[in-house]
Amino acid sequence: MKTEEMMVELKDVKKHFYIRKNQTLKAVDGVSFSIKKGEMFGLVGESGCGKSTLGRTILRLYEPTEGFITFKDQIVHQANAQQKKELDRSMQMIFQDPYASLNPRSMVMDIIAEGLDVHRHLRGKERKERVWELLETVGLSKEHANRYPHEFSGGQRQRIGIARALALQPEFIVADEPISALDVSIQAQVVNLLQKLQREHGLTFLFIAHDLSMVRHISDRIGVMYLGKLVELTTSEQLYKKPLHPYTEALLSAIPIPDPDLEDKRKPILLKGEIPSPISPPSGCVFRTRCPKAMEKCAMMVPEMKEYEPGHYAACHLYDEKSNWDHDEVAMTRE
Ligand code: SF4
Repeated sequence: MKTEEMMVELKDVKKHFYIRKNQTLKAVDGVSFSIKKGEMFGLVGESGCGKSTLGRTILRLYEPTEGFITFKDQIVHQANAQQKKELDRSMQMIFQDPYASLNPRSMVMDIIAEGLDVHRHLRGKERKERVWELLETVGLSKEHANRYPHEFSGGQRQRIGIARALALQPEFIVADEPISALDVSIQAQVVNLLQKLQREHGLTFLFIAHDLSMVRHISDRIGVMYLGKLVELTTSEQLYKKPLHPYTEALLSAIPIPDPDLEDKRKPILLKGEIPSPISPPSGCVFRTRCPKAMEKCAMMVPEMKEYEPGHYAACHLYDEKSNWDHDEVAMTRE
């Protein structure tokens, strides 16, 4: 795959937080992947796996401890003042909580125009018309511009957050669990809006979620994270049909199947115990303390991320032997 097709590339990115002497929280611990231009890349994993920290590190809200992040071939953490300004325009974020992320004392007009005021210095009629246009893009109307956040429902607030993210015509958006605080009935509407924006504006998304069922429907490719590490990466279709990593299998097995016959046969894989602390992750494979397929070598050797089929990567010792690749149980129950 050519580098020029990529919008964002991560190479062995680590983000560690130093808690106190001899204690380091390894929130992100050596993650590498690329996001193609125009792609909806889903990043999933349980809370605390480091996915939001990674999203924030890409957007320069955190400095990586090690590794490189490039946006259109430019290393984002080595940008000069002018380049930082351009990166701030080109890369935006949609936040999880549409209640906390909007200033309750500001009118929608000013919330959406925040970036325009700083970067574009729009004034008067021009500013007003740009905000109205953005409100219409996200399915609201210009009458909403003169109201305050508390006058809106959760779904409408998230639309305001999306309009704010779009104001500077970004190329790349990190959507950090944008639907998890919303009612189920509203989630699909917001997801449809994001897909429409991806299509019509050619946007590239990193869509962060803990729910694999929703991510599957909207993502072109999906990365699965566990305890600061990427454990599997492939297309959405391939991940669902033929997951390789035992953690992905467990996440998928928890999703109800709409077909009643298949749903009766579904056997959820119950993971034992809690996700370990990223301050003292297990040796070898970080998933080994909960993995139903763990072997002796899993405690001793860190599994490398390898490509087992074209574009399908996993980090698991089960596939060290080629004969172990073909395990179609999950595929059979879901097709
Ligand atoms: Fe399980 Fe071992 Fe694979 Fe880790 S490397 S996921 S512990 S089988």
